[in-house]
Amino acid sequence: MSNKSTFNLDFFLNLHLLFQMKSIIPDHEVNRLQDIQGILEKTDIEALILDIDQTVVPFGKIIIPKDICDFIHGLQPKYRMCFLSNFPHREDRIQRIRSIEEQAGIKAIFSQRRKPSPDAFRLALDELKSEPQNTIMVGDRLLTDILGANNMGIETVLVQPIDRRTDPLFMVRIPRALQGPYLKFARSIKKQK
Ligand SMILES: [Mg+2]
Repeated sequence: MSNKSTFNLDFFLNLHLLFQMKSIIPDHEVNRLQDIQGILEKTDIEALILDIDQTVVPFGKIIIPKDICDFIHGLQPKYRMCFLSNFPHREDRIQRIRSIEEQAGIKAIFSQRRKPSPDAFRLALDELKSEPQNTIMVGDRLLTDILGANNMGIETVLVQPIDRRTDPLFMVRIPRALQGPYLKFARSIKKQK
């Protein structure tokens, strides 16, 4: 992968969010996407923003596992949904996202600004014609999906990655290794307050 596609400048531009400890703590944690069913039933959520890599497909893969695809189809009559993806700068990546959209039957929003940038989440909310309080974000990464959505007041679900072995080393595997200890630390600070 090229540096342009993996380096997330917007993360560094939004580093201040890390100092608001509440921004890092997800409202919910689940093992797999399908586990959000129970959460949705208990809330007034009308719209879902879904991350793609490791939330609906293993990193870089093209075929959505059947159980996940069926689950997404099952939600469609009831919820407005979109994928939120960083702008893919290469034709093969655009084709990949187009295929994922087609399988899931939902649109992907391409953001020039990467998560956790508020601009990325605003784009998705505009697409869904939804307010943050009626929207839920599901993603596998604390420092992009959860940090950005929490900052916008969107309910958040941290999901376990589908297949860790497919994570690229530097920009994903290392931050993911730090994710657990950081979350523990943020929770301990919150408890003390
Ligand atoms: Mg992801």
